[in-house]
Amino acid sequence: MNLVVVSNRVARGKPNEPMTGGLAAALLPVVEHSGAIWVGSSGRVRDGNLKEPFAEIESLGAGALAMLDLPAAHYGGYYEGFANSALWPALHSRADLIRATQEDYVSYREVNAFMARALLRFRKPDSVFWIQDYHFLALGAELRDLGVTQPIGFFLHTPWPSRALIGGVPHHRELIEAMLAYDLIGFQTEEDRENFLSYIEHDLGLEVNEGVVRSHHGRMRAAVFPIGIDPQKFAQLAQKAMTHPDVSRLRRSLNGEKLAIGVDRLDYSKGLVNRIKAFDRMWTAQPQLARTISLLQIATPSRGAIEAYGNLQSEVAKLVTDVNGIHGEVDWTPIRYLNKGFGQAVLAGLYRTAQVGVVTPLQDGMNLVAKEYVAAQNPADPGVLVLSKFAGAANELDTALIVNPHDIDGMAKTIATAVSMPLTERRMRWEAMMEKLNAGTIEQWFNDFVEALRETQFVKSEIGPIVTEPALWPVRSSQGARYH
Ligand code: UDP
Repeated sequence: MNLVVVSNRVARGKPNEPMTGGLAAALLPVVEHSGAIWVGSSGRVRDGNLKEPFAEIESLGAGALAMLDLPAAHYGGYYEGFANSALWPALHSRADLIRATQEDYVSYREVNAFMARALLRFRKPDSVFWIQDYHFLALGAELRDLGVTQPIGFFLHTPWPSRALIGGVPHHRELIEAMLAYDLIGFQTEEDRENFLSYIEHDLGLEVNEGVVRSHHGRMRAAVFPIGIDPQKFAQLAQKAMTHPDVSRLRRSLNGEKLAIGVDRLDYSKGLVNRIKAFDRMWTAQPQLARTISLLQIATPSRGAIEAYGNLQSEVAKLVTDVNGIHGEVDWTPIRYLNKGFGQAVLAGLYRTAQVGVVTPLQDGMNLVAKEYVAAQNPADPGVLVLSKFAGAANELDTALIVNPHDIDGMAKTIATAVSMPLTERRMRWEAMMEKLNAGTIEQWFNDFVEALRETQFVKSEIGPIVTEPALWPVRSSQGARYH
């Protein structure tokens, strides 16, 4: 088997550099070990002949990285436009933030088509394609248009929202019909899968049988594959990180005071505003907790060119300043707020130093920070995870202190409970979470998905060719006339 993994961004294996997000962090080690080719954007754009994609290739463990320059004329409309200003807000149930023009949609489809052409170069008879995330909903259909018959799988790292919400995305029907070209679609949670299939059934009017849908594209199966981490590796990383200068300095600065930690991309889905308000509420309601617990909030800059992200950055910065102004003392800062990224080799030590991990997104596909925080703890004296019920991770990490991120008072009380939790209870909760992490590692996730994808080929050969139905949407005729 020749596995070709595709994502918007690829990660290079440098533990001292911050990851660009959960997807890159999760994929790096498994691609390194599996010998797959990982294809994604180089982060650069290029003018000129879009018919001949340019890729820079370098080795990555047993596999390889292929970094593509994306077409300059379409990059903005694809990335900041349709992917992150229409799909991302809709997938995270923020229909109010959906902004997309027709040009953005055209660019999104153009980049999907461009990626499909680029992938032909890596195709072999025994290839299996595995496409990652919302940037490439239509890539499977584009590959099929180019005659690719090999198995093509897709994994969505974000949530999949209700029918009404996804219906707020321009061209939603066309895009979801295109997704039927995949052989296998993986979701983080059962709820995501159900929401998706409900759209297929009610909006597309197709029959769904145990997660399997038949269309003119053939057979597509939707299944759940919750993504994991490598908990043992993270635990080792955390132990080692305790002597890192940044971690040592943090520990010295605490003077025995307890620490809560939040690590998030600066994104409206992460619930930063509500979290900071909850700390404010806690220090107001229980002033004796001032100087007992402070918050280290790492908010890694993200998608700064998009208006909603710029607004969020100002809002969070102002809120932190206000809260520090109200509760701070000449020698005590309640919230240490850092607008920068850290490599995981440091991050692991910061997690281990903190007695409380606060992971309170309003919506999140999985949230790997929650899993990393747990894995980084000292087994003899573990910290407490405060986790939003709207993070995919809450399905597995159900012995965390689960909170509703819209309930500020409730969160304030739960954080205070976490601060004073006795050791026996902390250990009991932590051990149960570690058991889950060890049972669902990133390697397991990778193997389960690839195995299920390979099986689709056997099923196909057993059931024979599918009767071709008329196309559900107009077939491409010429450039420009393709999209509606
Ligand atoms: N991360 C990092 N440096 C930072 C902040 C985050 O390396 O400064 C990593 C973190 O360790 C985790 C990933 O980025 O693996 C974030 O994944 P998550 O699923 O929590 O959220 P996403 O950013 O994908 O929405």
